Amino acid sequence: MFERINIENLPKGNILAFGEFYRNELNNSSLEILSPLKEVAQALNKKLILLFLIGSLEDIKNLEEIKKSLADEVWFVVNNELKDLKDDLYTEVLAQIVKSSQPYGLFFPATKIGMSLAPRVAGALKVGLCAHVNYLKVKDNQIIMSRPTYGENIIAKLVSKSSPVMATISLGAFNIKYGEREPLMKEIIFPENFSWSSKLKIRNFIPSKKKLTKLSTAKIVVSGGRGLKNKETFQKLFELAEILGAEVGATRPVCYEGWVEEERMIGVSGVTVKPKIYIGFGISGALQHTVGMENSEFIIAVNTDKDAPLVKMANLALIGDARKILELLLKKLKS
Ligand SMILES: Cc1cc2nc3c(=O)[nH]c(=O)nc-3n(C[C@H](O)[C@H](O)[C@H](O)COP(=O)(O)OP(=O)(O)OC[C@H]3O[C@@H](n4cnc5c(N)ncnc54)[C@H](O)[C@@H]3O)c2cc1C
Repeated sequence: MFERINIENLPKGNILAFGEFYRNELNNSSLEILSPLKEVAQALNKKLILLFLIGSLEDIKNLEEIKKSLADEVWFVVNNELKDLKDDLYTEVLAQIVKSSQPYGLFFPATKIGMSLAPRVAGALKVGLCAHVNYLKVKDNQIIMSRPTYGENIIAKLVSKSSPVMATISLGAFNIKYGEREPLMKEIIFPENFSWSSKLKIRNFIPSKKKLTKLSTAKIVVSGGRGLKNKETFQKLFELAEILGAEVGATRPVCYEGWVEEERMIGVSGVTVKPKIYIGFGISGALQHTVGMENSEFIIAVNTDKDAPLVKMANLALIGDARKILELLLKKLKS
């Protein structure tokens, strides 16, 4: 189906992006990271290559999405042993590809899988890794990467001293864009004596019953903070979200309190959102939170404190008890 290319003949010096394809599902974050990487590749006059490790070619759903991507080429490594994520085997395969293709850069989406693989591969290659990058730019022929640091209070600009440049890219930090030309598709052939073995044995796979959140792509986000006082009141945000067709977001302290799962945390340690409408109930608006929602089109803040930072950055502020305002809003919308 695709052009087959032996690993030792891979073109060298390009930008590789790890494509997350797990249990037959493409993770859209792999397409998101192509947006900044395409600009980087063009500025450096390099090709952008999206790389997938998969169990079988028949597993590829979403091929149309992949064909529309910004990648110049898409490479697949296909082996039944890659069907399940085995970190040690994936690391070895990726390290072999890097050794053969000597890329200029290797980037991962900061998903759970990306965050597990990137440091392992960096360790295997003995190179540095820049974690949770949310901005990339080329200056003087070098990739400059930014990420929040020192308690997320400053933005650090980093340049890799080792090669390839490696980084994980924050989720939701970039929008998916599509390319004008269909990428070339290639299957990478490994030597016959390559060992596909792993120390990990997958005995059974039980999918989580939890519904995955669509927070990073939601058009409306209703978000809650400590001002909602307790888990019961916080849970009312789900009723509001249901009515508005919104997703529920949260601040870090309320996730740590166990009012809601951590996947709903917005901010430097969580997800970046860019909805048309963001409503924050009882949220102070600390920098660590606002970097994850500041690009929302219309911000509504509900707070007792008229001087709270989120109130100051909001397009519309309601000064009052968030619990009462939430109750009234629900009553009104339900009627
Ligand atoms: C390294 C690091 C990383 C972090 N990462 C994140 C992150 O990713 N995301 C994140 O959110 N935070 C993060 N934080 C925490 C962040 O600094 C703030 O502490 C947090 O965002 C504050 O959450 P909050 O607004 O819910 O609580 P608070 O700051 O306590 O604010 C509560 C707000 O509710 C208001 N209020 C009180 N009662 C009522 C009421 N009855 N009705 C209406 N309003 C009321 C108060 O006036 C106040 O403005 C991080 C911190 C560190 C150090």
